[in-house]
Order: sequence, then C-alpha cells, then structure tokens
Amino acid sequence: MHETDMTKALILTVREWYESQPQPLQIDTVHLVVGKFTCVEPASLEFAFAAQTQQTFLQGATLAIRETPLIAYCHTCRANYRPEIGLRYACPTCNSPMDDIRSGRELKIERIEYSQQDAARDAPDALHDSPQATQNKTALTLVPSQS
Ligand SMILES: [Zn+2]
Repeated sequence: MHETDMTKALILTVREWYESQPQPLQIDTVHLVVGKFTCVEPASLEFAFAAQTQQTFLQGATLAIRETPLIAYCHTCRANYRPEIGLRYACPTCNSPMDDIRSGRELKIERIEYSQQDAARDAPDALHDSPQATQNKTALTLVPSQS
C-alpha cells in the first residue's frame, strides 16, 4: 500500500472523528498501530503525514507509530512463530505454510491525544477545571484485519 494513499485515509478518518466532537479541540498526537506485514514504512508515513496536514485542522499534530511484529500460528505445532518477512512464510519447525496470522496486519488508530479549547465554558457544572491533555481512546480501524 502506498503511504500517500494510506495517509489520506488516515486523515479522512481522523477528520470524521474530529467533526463529530461536540466541542472544538486541538489534536496533538495521533497514535497509530502499524503491523510489520502491511509493508508500510513508518518513516514514509510520518513524512506523508507532515506534508498532507499542512494548513489543515491537523497542522502541528504529531504522528506516533507503534509497530507490531508479524506473528503466525502453526496448527500442527500449536505454537506461535515469527515468519521471516520476504523470505520464508512457513513454520520453522514443521514447515507448514503460514495460514493463520495472529498479528502484523494491523493498520489502525490506537488513540488520539488532544486538548480542548474553551472547554467547559458553557458547561453548567465546573467539574472539568483542567481540560488540557485529555486523552480519548478510539478504535478507528483503517483497514480491517482479516484474521
Ligand atoms: Zn509447525
């Protein structure tokens, strides 16, 4: 997958979430999980993200990428193993072909860190005195993993 298109999908997904929020907010960091088996280059992704977010609602936001290894499960050996990407997609013990990927195809937003602007100004209660650095867990999946 090309990092440029991937970044477009990412920004669209974040924008949908951003526009659905009841209050204006400033996105600080977008945390992304990228599986090794997606063949997405984190460095290229960061570059594309920085370029494509210029002059947008995401200007100044950081992309934080966490890579997950390719892990497959061998039903014969009943064990997990790590295939060698590009070299060998088979169980190192019994040589069964890789058919059950347990990790490594993820491509999803783990969470979004943001600060709220003018938050709680109109709120009837003043429970939220320091709205900065609020974190929000999301489970926005860009590409469904087909495990
Ligand atoms: Zn095996």
